[in-house]
Amino acid sequence: MELKQEYDYVIIGSGFGGSVAALRLSEKGYSVLVIEKGKWYDAKDFPKTNWNFRKWLWLPSLRLFGIMKLTYFRHIAVLSGVGVGGGSLVYANTLPRPKKGFFNHGSWANLADWENELDEHYKTALRMLGAVKNPYMGPADNALKSVSEKANLTNHFEPTHVAVLFGSKPDTVVPDPFFDGKGPERVTCNYCGKCMTGCPNNSKNTLDKNYLHLAQGLGAQILAEQEVKDVKPLDGESGKTGYVIRFQSSTQWFSRSQTVKAKGVVFAGGVLGTLPLLLRLCRNSLPRISKRLGYDIRSNNEALIGITTPNNSLDLSKGIAIGSIVEVDENSHLEPCRYGNGSGAWRPVMMPAINEPNFFKRISKLTVKIVSAPLAWLRVYAVKDFGKSTVFLLFMQSIDSTIRFRKSIWGTSSAVSTGTAPTAFINKAHELSEMYAREINGKPLTIFTETLTGIPSTAHILGGCVMGESPETGVIDKNNRVFGYENMMVCDGSMISANPGVNPSLSITAISERAMSLIPAKGQ
Ligand SMILES: Cc1cc2nc3c(=O)[nH]c(=O)nc-3n(C[C@H](O)[C@H](O)[C@H](O)COP(=O)(O)OP(=O)(O)OC[C@H]3O[C@@H](n4cnc5c(N)ncnc54)[C@H](O)[C@@H]3O)c2cc1C
Ligand code: SF4
Repeated sequence: MELKQEYDYVIIGSGFGGSVAALRLSEKGYSVLVIEKGKWYDAKDFPKTNWNFRKWLWLPSLRLFGIMKLTYFRHIAVLSGVGVGGGSLVYANTLPRPKKGFFNHGSWANLADWENELDEHYKTALRMLGAVKNPYMGPADNALKSVSEKANLTNHFEPTHVAVLFGSKPDTVVPDPFFDGKGPERVTCNYCGKCMTGCPNNSKNTLDKNYLHLAQGLGAQILAEQEVKDVKPLDGESGKTGYVIRFQSSTQWFSRSQTVKAKGVVFAGGVLGTLPLLLRLCRNSLPRISKRLGYDIRSNNEALIGITTPNNSLDLSKGIAIGSIVEVDENSHLEPCRYGNGSGAWRPVMMPAINEPNFFKRISKLTVKIVSAPLAWLRVYAVKDFGKSTVFLLFMQSIDSTIRFRKSIWGTSSAVSTGTAPTAFINKAHELSEMYAREINGKPLTIFTETLTGIPSTAHILGGCVMGESPETGVIDKNNRVFGYENMMVCDGSMISANPGVNPSLSITAISERAMSLIPAKGQ
């Protein structure tokens, strides 16, 4: 791809925030370059199952250039997306709107009437991402419905709103159904459950099929497999005259770095892209960045508990990745997540789930659990198809505690900032998982790191560049502009300034839409 020497905007990362920025800035007449670390993936390129590590996992040191990255910190293990379209390639399509509390808490609480101001942008985000109510309840959803009835939560169970193209008949090719013919041709969903290894059917509304596709139509350039390493103000101070951006191949061993200039920069690398980059740059290239950088990092305080059933007649992989949701109480939600058939790569790293914070008690309970019913556990571990026989229950809470990321000799490391450290031991989550396990005659399992070390896992890492009234309270202002610099913004999960308590991509999209709506058209 031939690059210009200078752009109006360079966008670092092509996830939810980056894609919104790419389209809206292009519509306003700006020249835009999106630089993305991951690869382009078409429907035919996705792995058939998650055993194909080369296409599923992002681990460049082992030459794995897939769509999902696993990062371990002292206090949390994080799953995130990589590729053109960012987390949309690997995510479970679910787009819930957060409750009132999200808009009135955290460092952004008094900066605007967020619930009202964001309303139109949530509507735009839902329309652009093509969110509709899931029309199909698979066996895993029906089991959740039964559990919700038994837990007196019948009225709190509902199908999810998801970014998927459904039709009256599966596997039907249709011309662009969303953007008056400006979008790509699509195929209706066949409920194969493979959304989290990448939709092989062109049915999932990933960002390359909406925002990025339309942005390209308006001239935006997308440069894949290149990682941004440095952003320097041309004036050595506030960036008034623009920036020079240095980037380098992320998929080749030896490559020369290149540079482009831009009048403005949008950081959109997600929490695990934007934060490590800015934490490095604030030491030299961008010293004016607020000292709050890296603070106020939250997850949804999640628990991820797998339930595996030896009952071969149940195919838990049928349906979309997350087909239903239960509002457990005003702070908590529960969703069943599935992989497609054949996707059993989690099996070797799963252990019996034990809800016990004390390490020694946990190990003794684990031993008792296995020794008291060895055959039952063997049957669970020996199921023929782990993908078909397993559902992952995702329990999310809006209760707050924050951690901090900082630069260390290990790269980026975590520390507890406020409240208690995120925990893998949430009573309600374990209680509901036991009920669910009884419903399908299965056993609850967690990733071994949770069982052994108690470190919880999250797919929803948020914050670190939060909004504030001033650099003393935040890294960006209420319009996503970085304090201390001109024409520099953050539009990704790191801007999220309170705990949404539900899957965050819709909120990232809506807040980015608002930030972009405030930028004047070129020349105005
Ligand atoms: C398995 C899984 C399931 C999920 N399911 C859901 C769900 O159902 N609903 C929901 O709302 N959320 C879900 N999420 C979370 C969701 O994917 C993220 O919250 C969302 O993608 C974050 O968006 P973002 O804009 O912050 O950036 P991301 O989508 O994370 O994109 C950032 C992009 O920037 C790139 N990048 C980073 N650093 C650089 C750099 N230096 N140079 C160039 N490029 C860079 C990365 O490669 C990446 O592609 C899920 C996540 C996972 C892992
Ligand atoms: S269920 Fe299958 S076809 Fe439907 S969106 Fe998910 S991966 Fe695509």
